[in-house]
Amino acid sequence: MGNIGSCSVRSGCQTVNVSWEWNEMRAACPFCGDERIAESITASERMFGLEGAFTYHRCGACGSLFISDAPADLSPFYPAKYYSYTSDARSSLVAFCANLNARMRARTYLKLLRQSGTVIRSSTSFVDVGSGSGDLLRALQAIGLSHVLGIDPYLRPGTNTRGITVIRRAIEDVAEDAAPPRADVVMFHHSLEHVLDPSASLAAAAKLLAPAGAILVRIPIVSYAWERFGINWFSLDAPRHLCIPTERGFKSLAAQLNLRIVGSRYDSTSMQFLASEAYERGLTLSEAFPSNSLTTALRVVLSPKNVAARYLNRQRRGDQAAFVMVRENER
Ligand SMILES: [Zn+2]
Repeated sequence: MGNIGSCSVRSGCQTVNVSWEWNEMRAACPFCGDERIAESITASERMFGLEGAFTYHRCGACGSLFISDAPADLSPFYPAKYYSYTSDARSSLVAFCANLNARMRARTYLKLLRQSGTVIRSSTSFVDVGSGSGDLLRALQAIGLSHVLGIDPYLRPGTNTRGITVIRRAIEDVAEDAAPPRADVVMFHHSLEHVLDPSASLAAAAKLLAPAGAILVRIPIVSYAWERFGINWFSLDAPRHLCIPTERGFKSLAAQLNLRIVGSRYDSTSMQFLASEAYERGLTLSEAFPSNSLTTALRVVLSPKNVAARYLNRQRRGDQAAFVMVRENER
């Protein structure tokens, strides 16, 4: 600690100063543990145009990316309009479409779990780590899976979770409780890249698993879009994304934790092109895609760039993937 970073943020016609302290610098890859650095890059906050300068290292062994100097307090980089926390503010039409999308996503990943050997019954229990206000868990409830629980240490006090129980603590702390909750499926939907130590979070998830349970991780992947767009890659998302693996790096981490990958699916979309190209043009995400807009959703879904995304997914080179893991020797 000790070093102070700062930047100015435009908010309407006002300029607001944001400052932060750095965490300790780190150099070991959080996925494979190797200490060789292939390259270091400096990226800035692009989603909201907060800017700043954040150093990322690329692992010399597995190619994963990780931040070297994360702000000790990341809350200035999760403003109220950050997508996880905005479900209260949506119009009814956008909320309807978001719910429909959440149900489609839920069905997609239930299918992957089943294909990977996980039995899903109405009694199957789910924990969603980084659940936000619980959209996905609500979608599971809507299709008859009622045993759901959210864990999200960053959920803002007073957020309306509309009947979903969300524990506002880190999973590492929850797993140390005398009687922690048990789950048949522990899920990380684009939340594991937001922690400094993905190994500790996955180890905690394994502790919560019921016998024969499964861990589902959806996460950005360092691959073609990183090679094509570099610091303008949408899913680099500095400084919120603290670590992003290659597939090789993720497999290495799973093996170290005695977790066996029993299923995977690349699920990247046109956003890897549409948003990264907007960043190349110097736009923020909200300038390129007005938030909570139905037009935005249609632009993404109907974009011809989805053809390229599907091609990359088939090549296992898309910029995000889902992995299903079980504890070694359990199946
Ligand atoms: Zn590595």
